[in-house]
Amino acid sequence: MAGHTLPDLPYAYDALEPHVDARALKLHHRRIHQGHVDRLNAVLGQLDPSLQELPVDELLRHIDEVPEDSRSAVRNHGGGHANHSLLWASLAPGGGGAPSGALGQAIDETFGSFETFQGRFSLIAANLFGSGWIWLILTRGKLVLYTLPNHDSPLLVGERPLLGLDLWEHAYCTEHQWRQGDYVDAFWKIVDWNAVGRRYEAAREAAGQRRCHQPQPA
Ligand code: MN
Repeated sequence: MAGHTLPDLPYAYDALEPHVDARALKLHHRRIHQGHVDRLNAVLGQLDPSLQELPVDELLRHIDEVPEDSRSAVRNHGGGHANHSLLWASLAPGGGGAPSGALGQAIDETFGSFETFQGRFSLIAANLFGSGWIWLILTRGKLVLYTLPNHDSPLLVGERPLLGLDLWEHAYCTEHQWRQGDYVDAFWKIVDWNAVGRRYEAAREAAGQRRCHQPQPA
């Protein structure tokens, strides 16, 4: 039996109030995220032990190695597990504000200003049709915002997610009465930009190392 487990939140369920309701957060974590972990383990239990041992991010990066008849289940539930884990680790009581350091600078250079970035984020989120997530990723040294459907992760195509927000209706229907704009506004008040900034610097470093290791042309 594969052994993925639900990660504990790094804060109490009520720690993000009033921006995230404790009961809604608990249901999202204990019911929805746990459901993905359980279903991922059930699928992996039928597969080669080498796949069962991979951390979920590696599993998604190697989705092509999953047998075809199990691939969409691994993509959906592995993505559900990885995406929610990343989201919980991107929030903090006392978060919010604007990013500083290298990430703050890159956002200013890419989008013009942090406020413009926030506006683009909201617009792109509002334009998603159906369920999915909005992602800030680093690809070829550039910051990019896009949405992906369902629980698809940028890891599936070898990209590095820096920040993602759950745009499934279950994430905001009860608390915000389906008002996505209010949900995104509440999100800005709890983003842990220190954590996202560290992820950005790690992604830049990994991309730099990849470049150095490219074989020289003959
Ligand atoms: Mn969710």
